[in-house]
Amino acid sequence: MSSQLQPPAHLPTHEVLNQATEFVGQNLLTVDTAVHETLQKADAPWLLERAAALGAKAGSPEMQDWGRLANECPPKLKTFDRFGYRIDEVEFHPAYHHLMSTAMEYEIPSAPLNHSDAGHLGFASLAYIFTQAEAGVICPMTMTYAAAPSLKLEPGLDPMWLEKLKNPVYDSRFIPASQKESVTIGMAMTEKQGGSDVRANSTRAVPVDGAGRAKAYLLTGHKWFCSAPMCDAFLTLAYAEGGLSCFLVPRFKPDGTRNNFFIQRLKDKLGNKSNASSEIEYNETWAQLVGEEGAGVRTIIEMVRHTRLACTAGSAALIRHALTLAVHHARHRSAFGKLLSDQPLMQQVLSDLALESEASWQLTARIARAFDAQANDPHEQAISRIGVTLAKYWICKRTPRTVYESMECMGGAGYVEEAPMPRIFRESPLNSIWEGSGNVMALDILRAMQKEPESLQALQKELTSHLGDHPLVDAQLKKLQKELSSMDDIQRRARRITELMATSLQACVMIESSPDWMAEAFIEARLGEDRSQTFGALPTVLPHEKILQRALNC
Ligand SMILES: Cc1cc2nc3c(=O)[nH]c(=O)nc-3n(C[C@H](O)[C@H](O)[C@H](O)COP(=O)(O)OP(=O)(O)OC[C@H]3O[C@@H](n4cnc5c(N)ncnc54)[C@H](O)[C@@H]3O)c2cc1C
Repeated sequence: MSSQLQPPAHLPTHEVLNQATEFVGQNLLTVDTAVHETLQKADAPWLLERAAALGAKAGSPEMQDWGRLANECPPKLKTFDRFGYRIDEVEFHPAYHHLMSTAMEYEIPSAPLNHSDAGHLGFASLAYIFTQAEAGVICPMTMTYAAAPSLKLEPGLDPMWLEKLKNPVYDSRFIPASQKESVTIGMAMTEKQGGSDVRANSTRAVPVDGAGRAKAYLLTGHKWFCSAPMCDAFLTLAYAEGGLSCFLVPRFKPDGTRNNFFIQRLKDKLGNKSNASSEIEYNETWAQLVGEEGAGVRTIIEMVRHTRLACTAGSAALIRHALTLAVHHARHRSAFGKLLSDQPLMQQVLSDLALESEASWQLTARIARAFDAQANDPHEQAISRIGVTLAKYWICKRTPRTVYESMECMGGAGYVEEAPMPRIFRESPLNSIWEGSGNVMALDILRAMQKEPESLQALQKELTSHLGDHPLVDAQLKKLQKELSSMDDIQRRARRITELMATSLQACVMIESSPDWMAEAFIEARLGEDRSQTFGALPTVLPHEKILQRALNC
């Protein structure tokens, strides 16, 4: 803001002094050295250019304000119109639509469909930058991104779906998908009696005119959580005669009339306010079978695996956003005669938060790169499977505590609703709950160890290639080997095993991708025996100047 536009600091009773400024007008890519380096090394010029443009846009006062407005003016359900017709539509504030347009135009959901070089890294990094303006819109963007791999499993579907997923424009009209320029796709699995355990689903599917792949069925039942219900279609699960099966449910039937998609109400959520999450009922709802009858989990799991990458990137972004606000505040606020950023203990806390942020990003980027390479490289395919589960578990679990500590760095200014921090804080537990909660992720690691032994072998190969790099890494890998040497009480140890794997992988990725001094600081902070549960209580003094300059390069 130019100095002329500044509100007056001289008030009748006092002068406004020592207040931080809004963190706006910065490029969210170039201030973030670690992410910038990743994209410079990615050998995908489209992505570096796109991320720099999105970084400027997401950091602009305008887009930051869309984020605020979309959350302060949440979506409204219109079950009926004023004449009594059932419409089941959700109305959003214009800021939400601006955000959706931006996300689509920057190809967040369509990056892997449109770019064979670094498409998944593109999704992860663009979603990461975007989230620092607004997190809720990333839910429909994630599901739209993740739907393609499952849709590709069913060649009998109308090719229109995949074609329209590629188009980087936002078409918000509530009309049949065939008449739209582009589409968004959601996912509806969770029912009242079972979320993690989808085999408890009670929704039934009856064929209209003979059973089989891509054939029409009528679904009857409900879904207890269905986010972004204004999507054009949903991948959903229901029991057909052959078992639990995956279906595509469009909002309009092929004859152009509204499908039976009854939105019962919107959830009143802790956070994620801009995004509508609904309860829905199907009553003879038209759907098309995707994959074989009975192969529902196998078909939709491809979508879920990709949404898990999005949860990882989204949580890394929340950590990053909170860190940015904390460091910016500390650079502008003084206490006891010195800027907070010059106070030794604050430097130690902020540097520790910055280590967490960089490690979260580096692990996210490593897994996204594995997604990009999975088609041609069995090692990368194995890493993409086990790695996304580890990363989703660990980064999402670390988020609320990291955000909270960043909030505390801002003192009371971090706790008031006018600041973005409460929104970040309320968002922070969500990625750990959906798309497989913490225990489910840890149990999934055990399942992978038993049913896909090549994934554990690939992880071990990657980890042991760093033996000898640092004594603490060696000691940690020994601990992990010991845990893996017995199957006794393995479920009770699943979180411990997952955490040892995740922090080991983070350490190795930091050795590969971050400057030596950054990797060294991370390893000592997170792998050492007397590591602390809070931030800033490390046994070593961190090289704060280098760490904080790298963390917020402006
Ligand atoms: C805001 C929001 C939006 C959502 N949007 C969607 C959506 O669009 N589509 C959709 O399908 N779903 C959606 N969900 C639902 C979400 O995916 C589920 O809440 C989640 O999968 C957990 O299922 P559940 O709530 O039934 O919990 P449960 O399955 O009952 O699990 C409760 C707890 O038990 C743990 N647990 C489960 N099994 C075991 C076990 N064997 N051993 C040990 N612990 C276990 C879990 O880890 C969890 O901590 C949404 C949820 C939220 C909060």
